[in-house]
Amino acid sequence: MRDPDSLPVQLESALSSKAGNAELTLGEIVRPDILECPPGVSLREAARRMNEARVSSILVVAGDEVLGIWTERDALRVDFTDASAFDRPISRAMSAPVRTVPRSITLQELAVRFREDHLRHYLVADDGGRRCGIVSQTDVVMNQGIEHYLKLRKVDSVIKGSMQPLSESAPLSEATRRMREGGVDAVVVAYADGYGILTERDVTRLVAAGTTDRAVGGLASRPLVTVDARTSLYRVRSLLAERRMRHVGVVDENGALVDLINFSDILTGMELVYVHELQSALAERDRALSTSQRNLYLAEKVIENSLEGILITDDQARIISVNPAFTHLTGYTAEEVIGRNPAMLSSGRQNAAFYERMWASIHAHGSWQGEVWNRRKNGEIFPEFLTINAITDHDGRLTNYAALFSDISQVKESEQRIRDLAYYDPLTGLPNRRLLDDRLQVELAHASRQHGRVAVMFVDLDRFKRINDSLGHEVGDQLLVEVARRLRSCLREDDTVARMGGDEFVVVMSDFDGPDGAVHAAGRMADALRDPIAVDGRELVVTCSIGISLYPDDGADSSTLIKNADVAMYRAKDEGRNAFQLYQPAMNARSLEHLALEAALHRALPADELLLYYQPIISVEGRRIVAAEALLRWRHPDLGLVSPAEFIPIAEETGLIVPIGEWVLRTACTQHAAWRAAGRLPIRMMVNISARQFRDHGFVDMVRRVLRETGMPPHLLTLELTESILMDDTRQGIALLEELRLLGLRVALDDFGTGYSSLGYLKRFPIDELKIDRLFVRDIDRNPRDAALAAAIISIGHSLGLCVVGEGVETAAQLDTLASHGCDFVQGFHFSPPVAAEAFPD
Ligand code: C2E
Ligand code: CA
Ligand code: CA
Repeated sequence: MRDPDSLPVQLESALSSKAGNAELTLGEIVRPDILECPPGVSLREAARRMNEARVSSILVVAGDEVLGIWTERDALRVDFTDASAFDRPISRAMSAPVRTVPRSITLQELAVRFREDHLRHYLVADDGGRRCGIVSQTDVVMNQGIEHYLKLRKVDSVIKGSMQPLSESAPLSEATRRMREGGVDAVVVAYADGYGILTERDVTRLVAAGTTDRAVGGLASRPLVTVDARTSLYRVRSLLAERRMRHVGVVDENGALVDLINFSDILTGMELVYVHELQSALAERDRALSTSQRNLYLAEKVIENSLEGILITDDQARIISVNPAFTHLTGYTAEEVIGRNPAMLSSGRQNAAFYERMWASIHAHGSWQGEVWNRRKNGEIFPEFLTINAITDHDGRLTNYAALFSDISQVKESEQRIRDLAYYDPLTGLPNRRLLDDRLQVELAHASRQHGRVAVMFVDLDRFKRINDSLGHEVGDQLLVEVARRLRSCLREDDTVARMGGDEFVVVMSDFDGPDGAVHAAGRMADALRDPIAVDGRELVVTCSIGISLYPDDGADSSTLIKNADVAMYRAKDEGRNAFQLYQPAMNARSLEHLALEAALHRALPADELLLYYQPIISVEGRRIVAAEALLRWRHPDLGLVSPAEFIPIAEETGLIVPIGEWVLRTACTQHAAWRAAGRLPIRMMVNISARQFRDHGFVDMVRRVLRETGMPPHLLTLELTESILMDDTRQGIALLEELRLLGLRVALDDFGTGYSSLGYLKRFPIDELKIDRLFVRDIDRNPRDAALAAAIISIGHSLGLCVVGEGVETAAQLDTLASHGCDFVQGFHFSPPVAAEAFPD
C-alpha cells in the first residue's frame, strides 16, 4: 500500500533530475568577495574598480551600513554628453535601498525572485543580518544545474526577435538610451562588413575612462560572436563561460542576425520551462494523488466488504488494522487486537518449525500461502486458508504485512464428509467394507512380516430381518447403532470392527494368543449383545452368530479370510444361532450348497421331497408323552436331509413358506388322524407357524379349512408362534390370535426369551403355552443366571395361567433343574430326537 503523499516513483525521479541543483541554497554558491566603496567615490573611480575586479556591481557603504549599490546597469544612466558627469560622487547615482536575500534561500526561489523583481543583483545576508556577498543572475544561471534542459533546448527557443542594430555612426548616448529604455544590457552595432557589440560592461569601462559622447562605431567590440539558431543552449552557456562573455548573437540558417542573447535570456527561458515543468509535474502529482485516493477509497471499500478476514500489521508485526470480516471470523473487535501480535490467534496446532518455514518464505518471496488452524475468541479452533504478503514502500523497505484469510471449516468438513462416506458407514460410524479391506491388508502384511496371526470374524445378527420388517427401519437402524457401539466396546483400540451392510459386521483382530484369544473375543461380543437393547420404549433382545477365520491357517488374503469367516458364521447359524464357530475347511462346500438351496427349494414341494419328523413332548410330572412337535425335513436328492434352520429362512424370504406351511399343517393333522385311527392315545399335535405365514391374509381360513378337511379336533392342535408375529401390529396380531382360539385350538409362544419383548408383554397375549428357548436350558444346571431366568419365566408364565415347556433338554441335570422350578413339560434329546412318524414312540 503506497503512501498517498508520495509521488509516483518515475515522476519524482524525473523532477529531481530535471531540477538539478534547484535544492542548492544560495549560501553554497555565493562568492564572499564584495566590491565596496564609500559614498564619496566618483563614478569614474567606481567604474574603474569594477572593471578591474571584473564584477558588475559595487556596494556603497559607510562603516557597517549599506547605503546603496551601483551597477553596470546604472552606468547606462551616465550622461556621456556632460564631461563632468564622471566625477560626480557615487552616492548621487547609486540605487537604494539595496535588496537583500538570506543565504538560506534556494537557487530555485532566487531565480523566481530575480524574474519577479526585475533585478539583477541581490545583497546576500547571513543569519545575523551581516552582508556576505552579492549574487547576480549570472551566478544563478551558472549554478542552477540545468544542464539537462540546456542540452535539450536550442537557442531559437529564447529568441525575442526584437533586436534593432545601431548604425556605427550612432552616438554612445543613443546606445545607452536604447539599453536603458529597452531594458537590455547590450546593443548590436551594424558595420558594412559585419556586427559589433556594445555592452553595459563596455559602458562602465567608458565611464572609468571618462570617454565623452561619440559614435559607437569606434567603441563597440568587433566582431560579434554569433551562434547558429539551432545550437543548444548548453553550448551557448559553455561558450560564454569559456570566452568570459555575456552575450552572443544568433544567426538564422541564412546567416542573418536575428537576436542578441545573454545569460538572463537563458535563465528566463529556463525558468519558464522549469516552472512549466514544475506545474505539469504538480498537476500530474495531483492527478496521481486523486487517482491513488480513489484507489485507496476503493481498496478501503473492498477490504471493508470482503468476506475474507484481512489483518494488516506494521513492520514489527503489530496489528494496525482489521476488517469487519476479521471480527466476524475470529470474534475479536478491532480495539481488542490493534497493537497486538497476530500470534494471539494461534491455536497451538502448528509447531515452531511450521512458523519458521512460513517466515522463511515471507522473507524470501515476500509471501506465504497455506492452511493454518487458528483460535477464535470463544476458544474454538478453526482451519483457515491464509495468505500473508510483505508490503514494501517504493524504496523496497518493508513497511507492513497483510494477511488475508478465509474460514475453511466448511470445506474441511465436506472434505471430511466425503472421506467418511468413502470409508465409513454413515449409520454406525464404523469403517465400511473398503476401509476394512485397507486395514485388513495392512494387518496381513504386518502379520506376514512378524509371523503373527490375524483373526477375521464375521458377525451376523440373528433374525434381524424380522425386526426390520416388523418394527420398521428406524427401529432397526437404532438397534444397529447400539449393536455397533457394543461390539466396539468389546474390542481393543487397534482392532477393527466394520459394517459390511445390513446386519453384517466384520471384526479384525491381531496380536492375540492363538485361536483361544479370538474365541474369547467372540464370546465377549456375543455376551455384550445379550443384554436387552432399549429402542423406542421397547426392550429388544438380539443375538448374533459369529464365524471366525484365522490368518494364516484359514487363508492368506483378505477376501479368502472374509469368505471363510462368512462360511463359519453360517455354520454357527445352523448350529442354532447365538453362537460362534471357527472356520473348518469342510464348511466351504456347505456354504456353496447354501446358494443352490434356494433354487432347489422351489421344486421341493412338488417333487415330494418334504417330510415331517415328530418330537415327543413329555410332562415333567407324569413323565408321559403329552404332545408331538412336527418338525419339517427336506430330503434333498443330492444333499440328503437339509436342516430347517438352513431352508426355512429361504422359504420365508421367497414366500414359499405359505404353501409349505399349509402342507405341514395338513400333513401333521393327517398324521394325527392316522394315529387316532391306529387307536393310539390322543396326544396334542404342535405345529410351527412362521411370522410370514401368520401375516398371510388367508391364514385363519387356511387353518379352518385344514381342520375341517382332516377332521382334526381343534383342541388337540397347538400352533407354535414366535413373539415377532405381534411386532408389526400388536393389535391385529392379538385379534388374529383371538380368532385362532375361537376355532378352538391352542397357541404356544415358541423360542421365548430370544425375541423382542419383555415378560411384561406376556399378559396381553391370548396364549396358552410358553416354550423356553433351549438357549436358556443349555447351561441351566451350570449357569445361575440362566437358571434364574428360566425360573422367572416359569413363575411368571404360571402366574398368567400358562403352561411352560422347556426345550432342548439333553441331560438329566437340565431336566432336574427345570423340574425343580416347576416347569410343566419338557422336550429334547434326553427323551428323543425328532423322528419319522413310524418311529414315534408310543
Ligand atoms: P424350534 O421350533 O425351536 O424346534 C426345535 C428345534 O430344536 C428342532 O430343530 C429340534 O430338532 C431341536 N431340538 C430338540 N431337542 C433338542 C435338544 O435336546 N438339543 C438340541 N440341540 N436341539 C434340540 P430343527 O428340527 O432343526 O428345527 C429348527 C427350527 O426350524 C425350529 O426351531 C423351527 O423354528 C423351524 N421349523 C422346523 N419345522 C418347521 C415348520 O414346519 N414350520 C416352520 N415355520 N418352522 C419350522
Ligand atoms: Ca417349535
Ligand atoms: Ca423352539
